[in-house]
Amino acid sequence: MSEIMVKDKEYIAGTYNRFPVEICRGKGSEVYDTAGKRYIDMTSGIGVTLFGTADDEWVAAVSSQAAKLQHMSNLFYTSPCVELAEILCKKTGMKKVFFSNSGAEANECAIKAARKYAAKCKGEDHYTIVTVRNGFHGRTITTLAATGQDHYHELYRPLTSGFEYVPANDIAAIENAVAANKTAAVMLECIQGEGGVLPLDGDYIKAAAGIAQRENVLLIIDEVQTGNGRTGKLYSYMNFGIDPDIVTTAKGLGGGLPIGATLFGSKTADIFEPGDHGSTYGGNPVCCAGAVSVINRLTDEFLVSVTEKGRLARKLFEGRKGILSVSGMGLMIGLETVKPAADVVRECIGRGVLCLTAKNKVRLLPALNIPAELLTEAAETIASVCGEGI
Ligand SMILES: *Cc1c(COP(=O)(O)O)cnc(C)c1O
Repeated sequence: MSEIMVKDKEYIAGTYNRFPVEICRGKGSEVYDTAGKRYIDMTSGIGVTLFGTADDEWVAAVSSQAAKLQHMSNLFYTSPCVELAEILCKKTGMKKVFFSNSGAEANECAIKAARKYAAKCKGEDHYTIVTVRNGFHGRTITTLAATGQDHYHELYRPLTSGFEYVPANDIAAIENAVAANKTAAVMLECIQGEGGVLPLDGDYIKAAAGIAQRENVLLIIDEVQTGNGRTGKLYSYMNFGIDPDIVTTAKGLGGGLPIGATLFGSKTADIFEPGDHGSTYGGNPVCCAGAVSVINRLTDEFLVSVTEKGRLARKLFEGRKGILSVSGMGLMIGLETVKPAADVVRECIGRGVLCLTAKNKVRLLPALNIPAELLTEAAETIASVCGEGI
């Protein structure tokens, strides 16, 4: 074990199973370890560095903001968060934004907003939020409660009450759950990321949106992983022609600095009043300046290139030995492999390609601007690893 591994084990809480690699620098979709070995990054830090490592525009935006004003409390006006909120609203048609620091916090805010909205419209007993099994909404006690996966709950009970889980793609089940409970909201990811890169059926997503609208129940779409261009649309719900009441996002939004955002549609835009919610770091100028620099580049034309690169990757993986299926959308890709996914990922890292797992899948979330040549090189390495020795 190298010194850093020893010290990490000694001083860092043991929540992560790290690979034995220390990444110290990079440019775009290539990163390097301390021994100088080069890796193609098919992870972008779990969908965070949308334009790759040390992207010039992002670095310039963040550094110039840091040199001017790195933080001010939310008791005063600052311009980067207002600029970002305006861009997000104009690009989505949503009306207002609350900024926080992570996906879990963006979802916490959505849950609070949904409870307040339902309490005001229907009464305080209408607090149930219906979520989809195998989804993932975060690690706080409440967002764990929203996460319909029992194994995350063990030893952390009691969790926040008021969540009901329904199986994915079962329209009758979601209809029944909304009717059988005093429901405030339905909350889902259009593609379950941590759950194994599993897209929900388009018909199901549309039906869930229809049920929510009919029953005056809010529709919350968790775009923490699927958002910010990942699926070839700005937000994944835009692939399905639905109109959410609340959208949450984080991960890629900041391009590499922590930021979460909860976007409110017209029903919920004015639900919060002064004192209802807050975050010391929320709307931090440096994070927001970085976010503006990435979100402004997610033009329609750029998003088409994401779809095309997703198609290219899919073509390189489909039908290859050892790859049973390819799931996902755009540059959010899941590979069902003959070998255990963890073995594939370990071997790929050995051969200079960083990948992720999600449940039993190999998961790929490259930077959205990964050059086609690097994408092809990485895909060929991954496909060879999948096919060898089986
Ligand atoms: C990662 C993720 C979260 C949690 O985000 P954090 O920033 O880690 O709190 C929530 N929802 C989804 C869909 C995610 O992928």
